[in-house]
Amino acid sequence: MSEGILIVVSGFSGSGKGTITKKLVDEYEDYIISVSATTRAPREGEVEGREYFFKTREEFEKLIADDALVEYAQYVNNYYGTPKAFVEENLKKGKNVILEIEVQGAIQIKHMYPDAVTIFMSGPSIAEIRKRLIARGTETIEQIESRLRRAKEEVKLMGVYDHLIINYDRDECTKELNDIIVSSKNKLAYNKAFIEKITKELEEY
Ligand code: 5GP
Repeated sequence: MSEGILIVVSGFSGSGKGTITKKLVDEYEDYIISVSATTRAPREGEVEGREYFFKTREEFEKLIADDALVEYAQYVNNYYGTPKAFVEENLKKGKNVILEIEVQGAIQIKHMYPDAVTIFMSGPSIAEIRKRLIARGTETIEQIESRLRRAKEEVKLMGVYDHLIINYDRDECTKELNDIIVSSKNKLAYNKAFIEKITKELEEY
């Protein structure tokens, strides 16, 4: 069985990346979303172990010290990080593992897993993104402004990604994301088992 694909989805706050990745998992097989650890407080409706593993700063720093995270970063005063065991186990099982993480984390993943498929998602305009964030109602205006200031930094690092998706429409965007991942299955790096098999066949021929 071939290994799963590691997929990084990043994007400006309010780009719709959370909604799109959830839709991808609902509509297509073989995907699994990694649940991150964070020191951010839960939003209304968020469930421990479903959206995030919510941690104190001390608990999070213990995860760092124990080398239990594949990557971590600080985003607007909070820590966020990806648990290592979950990613490694699911890739081995052949699942396509999605990391919905910010850009510092994406850079760390690219170093560790050069064949990871990295995708940046944006809303059509900053005005539209701001409107979506206000409509979401989960952050105060000050927090929204901090997130948009962070976007000014993120845009400078967009060049590290392989693909860009502009979220005009949820359904179209989900399909585009799936298409990108499906076409990555043909990368040589994801076909090591087949290459070994055909090499052995030729040796015996
Ligand atoms: P939010 O507070 O809106 O849930 O997430 C804030 C930012 O942190 C988003 O850009 C999200 O993609 C990112 N993020 C979530 N989990 C992780 C993680 O495990 N690692 C990193 N580096 N970023 C994360």
